[in-house]
This record gives sequence, structure tokens and C-alpha cells, in this order.
Amino acid sequence: AAHVCLRNVGKTYASPRGPVPAVAGIDLDLGAGEFVSIVGPSGCGKSTLLKLVAGLEGLSAGEIMVDGRRIDGPPDGLGVVFQRDVLLDWRTILQNVLLSVELAGKPTDAYRERALGLLARFGLGSFEHRYPWELSGGMRQRASICRALLSDPQLLLMDEPFGALDAMTRDDLNLELARIWQETRKTLLFITHSIAEAVFLSDRVAMMGRAPGSIMEIVAIDLPRP
Ligand code: ADP
Ligand code: ADP
Repeated sequence: AAHVCLRNVGKTYASPRGPVPAVAGIDLDLGAGEFVSIVGPSGCGKSTLLKLVAGLEGLSAGEIMVDGRRIDGPPDGLGVVFQRDVLLDWRTILQNVLLSVELAGKPTDAYRERALGLLARFGLGSFEHRYPWELSGGMRQRASICRALLSDPQLLLMDEPFGALDAMTRDDLNLELARIWQETRKTLLFITHSIAEAVFLSDRVAMMGRAPGSIMEIVAIDLPRP
């Protein structure tokens, strides 16, 4: 699992109305195999922070190191799950899950069994040949997680992956996520606006203040694992 280190990280967007400071002065360490949640009010810069760690946005200040190397784009061995699933409607669930390895230029045949195994674990065993629009929101989000896990990423980033779902579905998926994380112990940065969810799932919870967000406090959680 990856070790991630953010030092004095800042991001200011350019906009027609002038610069928009989104995050500033972020210092955060994610130990290898650690599960860290970020909580904070809407607009405080949580998604921006995740995109910076994903290498999808450039930094305005500071630096981000993954395993001691300064990132300049998406780090190797990265899996990302966004709030809204990004499944392609013209591809089956299996084809969608295989997309990550396909885009990486790897042979998908080698990953087919693993993809089917992941889908089965996430209760999608009989849905691999269905299309995203045939599935419920929770099922699509589970397929997105399978896709993110397929290539055994060393670093997982999740941006309110269950935010759009009803509370019961969210609880189920949180339990599945907790189990998967227990088994694989990959470094996981998880964004949520639910403190309860963060406390339930994580080793540490980092609280962000209003934009431009910085980390106000980091709390270590010492509760039995779900
Ligand atoms: P959160 O995820 O905590 O809701 P965001 O990271 O989405 O917060 O946004 C932080 C701040 O940056 C907000 O003020 C938002 O309006 C602004 N922002 C986000 N993305 C952009 C962008 N592409 N261009 C300009 N401003 C942006
Ligand atoms: P989720 O909790 O995954 O959002 P729902 O609560 O909508 O799913 O549905 C519960 C179960 O009903 C699913 O796990 C699935 O077995 C079945 N189901 C839901 N939507 C569909 C669908 N569009 N086609 C086939 N089965 C479905």
C-alpha cells in the first residue's frame, strides 16, 4: 500500500470572476494501509483535495509525495470512485469493470476472472452482462467500486461514493467497504460529509474548515472495527 504525504498543499482556481482559493495549507500524511476520512462543510475543498491527490488537478502550492516521489499526474496504482458513478451506458457491467485495465493498455482477458469474482462479492454476480441503466443506483456504485479495485490499486480515493444513495443502501455498502478494506489494507482516502460514517469506517478523521479549506484537526478513532 502507498504512503502519501501532503505538504502545505494549496489550490486556487482561475475563474472569470478572479481567483477562487479552494484549499490552502494542507498538511496530511496517509500511512501505508491507513483509512483516513476527510469531513467538512460543503464547498470547503474536499473534492479539490481528492483531485489533487489523484493528480487530476495541478497544485498551486506545496507538494504531494506518493512513496517518496513527487506526483505530477495520476500516481501509479491508483483507484478512484467518484460520487456519481461514471459507467458507460453502452457497455455491460463487466465491460465497464474491465475498462480500467483496458485504458491502461493491459490485456483484459487476464483480468476477466478477477472482475467476475469482484462482481460476485459485491452482489452483482448475475448482472455482469446487464447494462448500467438496468441497475439501481446502489448496484451501479458497487460496480464502480469493482472497477476501482480491479487492478489491485495501492491507493484508493473515494469522493462521497455513497452520498447519493438512501441510508439503508449506504449502510450496506459501508459494511462491504469496511470488509474489503480489512482484507486488503490498501491506503484509503475517503471523503464524506457524515461524521458518523467517518468515525464508523476510519483509522483517523481529518476535519476541514470553510474554504479555502485547511485541516483544523485530526482525530484518531479507537473503536472496534465494524
Ligand atoms: P467540497 O468538495 O468540499 O464541496 P470543492 O472542492 O468542490 O468543495 O470546492 C471548493 C471551492 O472551490 C468552492 O468554493 C468551489 O466553488 C470552488 N471550485 C471547485 N471547483 C472549481 C473550479 N473548477 N473552478 C472554480 N472554482 C471551483
Ligand atoms: P441497491 O440497494 O443496490 O440500491 P435496491 O435497493 O434498488 O438496490 O434493490 C435491492 C435488490 O433488488 C438489488 O440488490 C437487486 O438484487 C434487485 N434490483 C434492484 N434494481 C434492479 C434492477 N433494475 N434489475 C434487477 N434487479 C434489481
